[in-house]
Amino acid sequence: MTKTMTCVACPLGCQLSVTLDGDTVVSVTGNTCKRGDAYARTEISNPVRSLTTTVRCEGGLHPVVPVKTTLPIPKDRMFECMKLINETVVQAPVEVGQVLIHNILGTDAHVIATNNN
Ligand code: SF4
Repeated sequence: MTKTMTCVACPLGCQLSVTLDGDTVVSVTGNTCKRGDAYARTEISNPVRSLTTTVRCEGGLHPVVPVKTTLPIPKDRMFECMKLINETVVQAPVEVGQVLIHNILGTDAHVIATNNN
């Protein structure tokens, strides 16, 4: 079986063709560099995504503070993570780089502020 996907590891967006034997990756073609091969293999075995969103913030200049995860998190945990982030309210002042949620849902990723508030 062959799957096609777009590599998102850089803006070039190479079209990858991944040949599978069951769940095992047999070959990856279409990648311009090694990162594309690694991306395709991870995407098949354990797809992950970085999460960028906002957290409610009380007492600051703005009602929300922009945040991101320090590591990509498993795609199938996104919904749970977003639910927790949406339920979280932090108090100002918040500084860029501050950890607002430590090790979110045991993923090893922290949710950090990407701006002051
Ligand atoms: S394969 Fe390499 S060059 Fe192509 S999109 Fe992925 S990272 Fe960029």
